[in-house]
Amino acid sequence: MLPEFDNTEVAFQYRSNKELKHARFLFSSMSSPMLTNIGIKMTKLALSMHLPVKAIIKSTLFDHFCGGETMEDAAKTAAVIGKYGINTILDYGVEGKESEEDFDKAVPEFIKAIQYAASGKNIPFISLKITGFAYFSLLEKIHSAAPLTKDEEAAWQRVYNRIDQVCKAASDNNIMVLVDAEESWIQLPVDDLTDKMMARYNKPKAIVFNTFQLYRHDRLVFLQQSYETAKKQGYQLGAKLVRGAYMEKERNRAAEKGYPSPIQPNKEATDKDYDEAVHFCMQHLDGLSLFIGTHNETSCLKAAKYMLDRNIPVNTEKVFFSQLYGMSDNISFNLSHEGYHVAKYLPYGPVNDVIPYLMRRAQENTSVAGQTGRELSLIKKEIKRRGI
Ligand SMILES: Cc1cc2nc3c(=O)[nH]c(=O)nc-3n(C[C@H](O)[C@H](O)[C@H](O)COP(=O)(O)OP(=O)(O)OC[C@H]3O[C@@H](n4cnc5c(N)ncnc54)[C@H](O)[C@@H]3O)c2cc1C
Repeated sequence: MLPEFDNTEVAFQYRSNKELKHARFLFSSMSSPMLTNIGIKMTKLALSMHLPVKAIIKSTLFDHFCGGETMEDAAKTAAVIGKYGINTILDYGVEGKESEEDFDKAVPEFIKAIQYAASGKNIPFISLKITGFAYFSLLEKIHSAAPLTKDEEAAWQRVYNRIDQVCKAASDNNIMVLVDAEESWIQLPVDDLTDKMMARYNKPKAIVFNTFQLYRHDRLVFLQQSYETAKKQGYQLGAKLVRGAYMEKERNRAAEKGYPSPIQPNKEATDKDYDEAVHFCMQHLDGLSLFIGTHNETSCLKAAKYMLDRNIPVNTEKVFFSQLYGMSDNISFNLSHEGYHVAKYLPYGPVNDVIPYLMRRAQENTSVAGQTGRELSLIKKEIKRRGI
């Protein structure tokens, strides 16, 4: 059956009364763009002045959007949602580290997450960002096709080795790896490296997934080309579809530097390409695995309906729906309730290190029209239903 996204009893079954009220407070606060923007600026200032804001962030944004500070904490959260048939994507959310030492340290951290995931039942994925293993400036240089020095070539080889170690561990343990998409001006080396990993590890099933940002006007074609390449080279494509998280940054940079924006002209064009990309993937499930990463109810419903109409088993191992932990539970839990495979992105890490992620969530919940309003009204509806 098609899911009903307004069923709040199913959506919030894992949340206690106290957690629901906390969520109401959080989303009410974020519903004011002015308050959120002031909050973000003040947080950045307080952090730069080394003021002790950690406790405030921890008890507000962090507790709602993150699984915990350690993998063990995240595993406990994963077990809670697992009781309701929801899978977890372990996301070691540390960002902004920029040293060879940090990049090297990330490898065992990810391998530990993979091994932990393999020991349980409901953690089929981990996710990673290539910028967690490589200097942003190096990726930017490779993207621009500028010649690398000997040292830079050696550094790039080390990045390859780090990612290869993680993907090999994932392949050995049958855990899937989602490689996040980032800014368009570093995406070429990210795509190239991910393609290499897919060619190496995606036989007979997709272990490594690349991410396609459909807010870019060139990505639907790139997805189709990636499928053709995979087919020719005899491996399965892992296709994670998202709309894209860096729209304002992308547009501003393009305007500043005077090149045409890589972003679609409007939201409708993004939506159209997103749904077309889902259709394309559904039509080619023989050669790929599909990961639908979105909080858009219409896109999720269209995808769910497509599967029902074409008799694609809703619990096929080849299609996953995914939302971020702390958002759109009405989509995740109701899809899962109808038997579709669902996985929640569950970031974890020291509070200070996941702040960029939390700031994006705060911003997104303010700037995306309707998002906060919808979350808030669903939370209020459930609070009323429970009579608390
Ligand atoms: C599980 C998961 C994994 C994710 N992984 C990544 C990742 O690896 N990389 C990444 O970049 N993002 C990632 N995101 C974030 C994602 O790209 C979106 O920013 C976010 O999910 C909002 O889009 P939506 O489809 O959920 O919802 P919607 O609210 O329907 O769409 C909002 C999105 O539409 C696009 N948009 C809005 N206005 C316009 C406009 N005027 N013109 C053109 N496009 C517009 C933007 O992309 C905006 O974020 C992920 C999201 C999820 C749920």
